[in-house]
Amino acid sequence: MIFPVKFRITEHKKKECKFQAIEFKKYWQPSEKYFYKGLLKIYSKAKIPSRLICYLNSSPYSMDDFEKGCISVSYKFKTPDKVKRVVAHELAHFLFRQAYTKYSLKVGYSETQLEDLKEILTVLHKPVLGLDDKGYKVHAKQRTQALKLWSKYHNLEKVISGLFKNKI
Ligand SMILES: [Zn+2]
Repeated sequence: MIFPVKFRITEHKKKECKFQAIEFKKYWQPSEKYFYKGLLKIYSKAKIPSRLICYLNSSPYSMDDFEKGCISVSYKFKTPDKVKRVVAHELAHFLFRQAYTKYSLKVGYSETQLEDLKEILTVLHKPVLGLDDKGYKVHAKQRTQALKLWSKYHNLEKVISGLFKNKI
């Protein structure tokens, strides 16, 4: 994964952002293979793109952009744990969109529900990647359910369809 700085960024933030990009690389790179392998255990139908870009942005927000083939993460994360957690989180969204959008729509999820679903599924980062991805309070119940379904099936499609049956 490469960590360039988003070019539309204010001049005084550029320096800090560039510094952070080096930090990100330093924190992420040693565990990269481990995280790719772990994410593919969850998102087993996905493929990690050979050239993956993680932009650093100066907003408080992080996002995935499947259409543009990149993720974009806020430069505010300063510790190795937080950097790994957020990069894996956005990368997971990317892989979800790539390989499970069609399936989820077929199961019956609406486009809006897909946004919730992708947030619910990051709860699996704890058992598989050892990352403490807290998620949103509003999804707490479904996240517990997702964990149960995962420990039973170890299959993401079963988790997705199981959650839908229980009306996420
Ligand atoms: Zn998210």
